Amino acid sequence: MSEYLIKNVAVLGGTPTDLLLRDGVIADPADAPADAEVIDASGLIALPGLVDLHTHLREPGREDAETVETGTRAAALGGFTAVHAMANTEPVADTAGVVEQVWRLGREAGYCDVYPVGAVTVGLDGERLAELGAMADSAARVRVFSDDGRCVSDAVLMRRALEYVKAFDGVVAQHAQEPRLTVDAQMNEGELSGRLGLAGWPAVAEEAIIARDVLLAQHVGSRLHVCHVSTSGSVELIRWAKGKGVDVTAEACPHHLLLTDELAATYDPIYKVNPPLRSAADVAALQEGLADGTIDIVATDHAPHPHEDKDCEWAAAAFGMLGLETALSIVQQTMVDPGRLDWAGVAERMSYAPARIGRVSDRHGRPVQVGEPANVVLYDPGARRTIEPSESASLSRNTPYRGMELPGRVVATFLRGKATVLDGKLA
Ligand SMILES: [Zn+2]
Repeated sequence: MSEYLIKNVAVLGGTPTDLLLRDGVIADPADAPADAEVIDASGLIALPGLVDLHTHLREPGREDAETVETGTRAAALGGFTAVHAMANTEPVADTAGVVEQVWRLGREAGYCDVYPVGAVTVGLDGERLAELGAMADSAARVRVFSDDGRCVSDAVLMRRALEYVKAFDGVVAQHAQEPRLTVDAQMNEGELSGRLGLAGWPAVAEEAIIARDVLLAQHVGSRLHVCHVSTSGSVELIRWAKGKGVDVTAEACPHHLLLTDELAATYDPIYKVNPPLRSAADVAALQEGLADGTIDIVATDHAPHPHEDKDCEWAAAAFGMLGLETALSIVQQTMVDPGRLDWAGVAERMSYAPARIGRVSDRHGRPVQVGEPANVVLYDPGARRTIEPSESASLSRNTPYRGMELPGRVVATFLRGKATVLDGKLA
């Protein structure tokens, strides 16, 4: 394996220094051998390898949309060294067998560590608990459980899941969507949904579940994670719950930090996502919540869909958009460039905190310093690039940022000292 001497890199945007990546760890640059590969990183910043708590890799079952290999290639290009793969595959990841399969595919591909998320209920059907303990004990060592795509709407089942995961320090990651309030919902409920004639997805359908779940988590003394928070009311509820000492964490997605429901007026299903794009006031509240720590992390909800599932009329189209390759740029644009977060804050929200929540912080989300695993991203915040879907490593093309000029570029990604990306390309 090559050894890399990275010269003049600004760790977390600080004073430029040198880093040596050797034998999978960050080593003292004074020990660099003469044949080390030298990377001039002047103008670049180093961040810890990013960790995504919410990725859809689609394998097994929907290899026409994405595979573990293509999804983790996209992840590496986005600066990620670990992703948590959601359970809504076909078959559903609700047994030790399926989560071990996904975990093994990730290891074989080698671009990024893949941590499978286990389903909360069998088949995501919301009726009985899946084999949570068997998945936790498997080689995949599952700690995050979610029916994402569907809400665990039955309060008794949700309570049982929260109680059960305590045995192995797991967490239930809830897709907060009250199903009866969102039958046939297509976009954010508001004045615009009425005008466009699309069924509305009201904020209260998200907020009611979050309110219930933080109270349940408090009642049973367990750990709750709220997926893709999208409304200002949700931010308020989580702020309140944290103030009460509830063990709750929350994520926001890049698209909810930038885009608003006005894009639905185009009727272009590229903007159709669940939860839906919300109002400008909601976007502002999410940015504020992410800045003050009410929202702990950024998670991509990378949701690949093949052309035929998106290139149709709005009501028939699938929910979801790509996110891995653009997440850091969107966070730079919405949070760093306007002064809401510094790079240390980005490292916390895109690496340290997601690794802690997913219980992988012995290996990922570690500081960029001597002795730590060499999971490192080199990023050029001064670059600009125009998003061209055909350049994506994903098998799908459903990016809402097509044609947009975004700041920043991932120059290199290292997974345990091995380059997965160099010069902005897969190594
Ligand atoms: Zn979801």
